[in-house]
Formats: sequence, C-alpha cells, structure tokens
Amino acid sequence: MEEIKNVKGTHDVFGDENNAYEKVESLMKSIAEIYAYKGVRPPVLEYNSVFVRGVGESSDVVRKEMYTFADKGGRDLTLRPEFTAGIMRLAIQNKLYATNELPLKLYYLGPVFRYERPQLGRYRQFNQFGVESIGHNSPMNDVEVIVLAYTILSSLGLENVKIKINTLGDEASRNAYRTALKEYFAKYIGNMCVDCKSRFELNPLRILDCKVPEDRPVIDGAPKIGAYLSKESKERFDAVLEALESLQIPYEIDQGLVRGLDYYSETVFEFHYKSAKGNDYGAIGAGGHYGSLMKELGGPDLPGVGFSFGIERVVSVLSDNNLLNDIAYELDAYIMPLDKSLDLYAQEVAVILRNSGGYKVDVCFDNVKLGNMFKRATNKNAKYAIIIGEDEAKAESVVLKDLASQEQITVKIEDLVDKLDELYETSYPEEEDK
Ligand code: AMP
Repeated sequence: MEEIKNVKGTHDVFGDENNAYEKVESLMKSIAEIYAYKGVRPPVLEYNSVFVRGVGESSDVVRKEMYTFADKGGRDLTLRPEFTAGIMRLAIQNKLYATNELPLKLYYLGPVFRYERPQLGRYRQFNQFGVESIGHNSPMNDVEVIVLAYTILSSLGLENVKIKINTLGDEASRNAYRTALKEYFAKYIGNMCVDCKSRFELNPLRILDCKVPEDRPVIDGAPKIGAYLSKESKERFDAVLEALESLQIPYEIDQGLVRGLDYYSETVFEFHYKSAKGNDYGAIGAGGHYGSLMKELGGPDLPGVGFSFGIERVVSVLSDNNLLNDIAYELDAYIMPLDKSLDLYAQEVAVILRNSGGYKVDVCFDNVKLGNMFKRATNKNAKYAIIIGEDEAKAESVVLKDLASQEQITVKIEDLVDKLDELYETSYPEEEDK
C-alpha cells in the first residue's frame, strides 16, 4: 500500500517542539494582553473577494499563492493566506469600530496557507501571531505595535533583532513615486525578469521586492521614496523615528522595503534575525500601517497598523540559539500551603504578589503531598515555588525556592515582592548601553 504522508509544505508539530510552540504563543499572547490587545478568531475560510480586494490583485499572495476553490455550493472560497483582511471583514461586519473605543486593539493566532515553494523557513501551512490597532491615525499607534513586537522578541531572549523600517507615504506620495519608478524602469524592463514585467504593469513599487540577482543593479539605482514624500508623510515618519529613538528601540531605515501586500501605506517594517547557526530564515515578523484597507472592504474610512510573526521562524531561531529552555515562565510562582489551615494565608500571599507585584501566581488548594505539588509546579512551568508551613505562617514569612537551581531562602512577607523584583533583575539584567 502506498505510504500516506503529510501534504508537501505542511509539517507535523509534536513532543518538545509542540511545547516550544505553546510557550512562544502563550508569551506572545500575554504580552499583547499587557498592551491591552484582545484576542479574535476569524474563520480560516473566507470568500475569495476578502483577500483579492484586501491584499490586492498585484500582490504575489493573491496572484500566485492562494488556496482558492469552489465549495459544493459553488462559493468561491480561500483558505486565509494572512489575517489582516479577514480581521477587517470581522470588524466591519460586527461593527466593532462603532461599539469600542478607538483604536480597536486586536490580536490573533492561527494557521495561514500560501502556495509557495517550500524551503528553509517557508511552508505552505504555517502559523502567524499578530496584532491590529484599528481606527486611530496617530503615529504613536505605529510606535506602539513596533515596541510590542520588539518587546515580545526580547522577552523570548532574541537580542540585537534588526528592525528595518521605511515609509511608503500617503496616496499622493505613492502616486508620485510610482510615476517616477515607471519612468525609470521603462528603460530597463525589457531585460528584467517576467515577474518584474508584470509588476511594472500592475504596481511598479513591487519591483523593489525582486530577489533575482541580475535585476538587482537596476533596482538599486532606482529613485528612492524619500524624495517623493508629502510634507505630512515625512512629518509622520519623523515622529515615528523620533519616538523609537527616545524609547531606545534600534532601527535601520531601508528605502527598498515595500512589503508584499498591497494595502500598506506610510510606516512599514520588518524584523530580521540571523540565528547563531548562521541560518537566515528571512523576516521573522513584519507589518505596517494601512490607510484604506477598511474602506476598500466596504467599511468606514479608518486606518490601522499591525504586525505579524511567523511562529515557525521564531521557534527555529530560538532553537538554533538554544533559547527554548529559557523562554519566560508561564507562572512566576506556584504557592504551596502544606496544610488546609494555611489556605487563607496562602491566598493572602497570592493577592500581595498579584496585586502589588504584578506577578503571575497560582495556589494549590488541593492539599496534596508536597512531592505532588512540586510536580504540578513543574507542569505549570513555574519559575519559583513558594512553600508555606506552620512555622512560616507564624513568622509571617514564606520559603521561596528557585525550581531551576533548587536554591531556597526564607523571606518575610513584607519583603517578598522586593525580593522577587531583585531576583528577576539579576536573572534578566537590563542590557548595558554599548
Ligand atoms: P507577511 O504576512 O507576508 O507579512 O508575513 C509575516 C510573517 O509570516 C513573516 O515575517 C514570516 O515570519 C512569516 N511567513 C511568511 N510566509 C511564510 C511561509 N511561507 N512560511 C513560514 N513563515 C512565513
């Protein structure tokens, strides 16, 4: 019998790798929640038009990569190749923009499908985590999503992530730039690749994305967007850069960065990281501002900004750099009262840690044996165990045990938050200025 295998470009996730996915995804979600984003789950299936109109007919995704088919009822459907257009459809249809304070801040996680050539870091079914901040035009929203993405990557242990940033300007800037590019490329297009020839007709900005080495010298000599920006777009971009500088988020302007999806305007960015093994998986995350996507899909004229990480690429980079074991703990501490009579005291300790310290803690009220409680702490991926016996309760203290090093100390309850702050500070020291 012929062996049944997974579909080309898909991959199975199980065992330790599955644990890694879970950890990475839960860290991403919890940081997005700290930034006041709320989860949404749009369907995997959408009408084809959501992506054709949303992502744009000149994008490679729509032209070549969509899994589109007619269902048994003859509907033209597409397995989502990205989330943003579907989320805009969801926000419009459910009038979320009218029933919520703006910006509407949403995060998502799930599989997406693109018929691409499978290679290192490139699958046909892969997972994305991302956020959208919709309905408010301040450049500070662009800054917020960049800081959020950067915080997620540094919390995962990825230092020195390279942020490439550019602006595509407003519509007037882009029209002026498109005309200049068309004029410039007209002289060379006859000798460029077939993709560039169709990009020249559909959207000459896309040519800047061409990876064919023979085309690069011509592309490198093309006019740059900077000279075609309207005053407003220039000021907007400067405001984004200034804010990133004062928040000490490093970036690099890349005037060739145009992104593959047609809906982008103004700020666009990508996150790159070369792993310790030298593997370059391409961008591990990317995003930008979109001025008229919502209007394009029949909704109100509201802008938005968002980013998306490829989970497979993030996990690959973490694995290459041996960082998978270090990623943030799901629980800061698991509190273990050794007797039922100590439950109330344990509850009080939990409230102090959660409310005054902002620590994520859980309490074991099951009154099981200590060994069992330690097992649960490990299963819950806690960094510390807090053990409470009668002596500790009497002395208004607790035993704080680091589950990795097995070191333990007794701490007075009034010093507990400060002690944890201090321990976290030493295990994750602030990066020194270089
Ligand atoms: P995009 O939606 O094209 O802006 O891509 C956002 C992120 O998704 C990229 O930065 C990658 O990390 C990831 N990604 C895009 N295409 C693929 C793919 N074919 N396989 C795996 N990850 C991908």
